Amino acid sequence: MLPLVRLIAVVLSIVSAISCGRKKYDEHIRETPVVEKISVRYDSGVPGWQKDLLEGDLDNLSRLNVNVSNAEYANIIGLSEINASQLNRWLSERLKVIVGEDFQVKYRYSYKQRFTSNPEAFSETYTPLSAAVTNAENTGGLVYLKCKPLGYICDLNLMDGTAIEVRTPRVGVVRIGEGLFSPRVEGNREDRAASFVRLGTLFHEAGHTNGNGAHVCFAHAKCPPGHAYYDPDPDKGYACDEATNGPYPIGVTILKILYEACGTSCNARQKEQLAGIIADYETRRLDGHTYKDPRPERIP
Ligand SMILES: [Zn+2]
Repeated sequence: MLPLVRLIAVVLSIVSAISCGRKKYDEHIRETPVVEKISVRYDSGVPGWQKDLLEGDLDNLSRLNVNVSNAEYANIIGLSEINASQLNRWLSERLKVIVGEDFQVKYRYSYKQRFTSNPEAFSETYTPLSAAVTNAENTGGLVYLKCKPLGYICDLNLMDGTAIEVRTPRVGVVRIGEGLFSPRVEGNREDRAASFVRLGTLFHEAGHTNGNGAHVCFAHAKCPPGHAYYDPDPDKGYACDEATNGPYPIGVTILKILYEACGTSCNARQKEQLAGIIADYETRRLDGHTYKDPRPERIP
């Protein structure tokens, strides 16, 4: 009898190990997707492991079951309500193609055609979207900003050989780098806390497809003297926002929503680190910030 008892005990212990190892879902993260996952296209230069992680991030977003009633948050992002359906739709309209870190200038764009509108109407100076260390960059917006003052509609040439006509920053082309995957919170890159930090960055980049006229793409402003990101070099230190609804405010708002949603998936240390990232991003919105029209530009 004894061996049989031992066998039953072994079987039970395996069963219990399996049930303990089952993925635990938080109150705000549903086991089944709440909405359909966003479909994003990846250029050939994006490594498979980065694509897998980003797909996991978008999967997390589709499972997010939040219903936040906060007029300030809604105003910053530009939504009437904050729930999975609206957040996923908002991102899907602004993030369409992801290109890899090795995406080089030579691939980036070619002058395609002059548009008929008076180029003078589009002449203006622009500042780089970011001169600081970047985890990601809104390449579609950069190409649009580069070509618009010249009166050209440009093609953005991907590494996979296809081209995207950039008539608007809403082409939603974002370049990602390994910095996006560096551990900014304790744990693995697969952890939900790390996933949420990346999602915050994706929403930030998506915010660069907003805006028109003088604030097209919501280019960052120079952080003032005394600010942690101030740089005396006139070409550096563009890591702040003048707009109430600029990319940093959008990214940090998303991160605050996700922080609440992380529940038991984030341990105390990770929550502390997330709070630190949130506090940093909060300082990027300059005093005297104003709300600016987020409607995007589009060359007809
Ligand atoms: Zn930015």
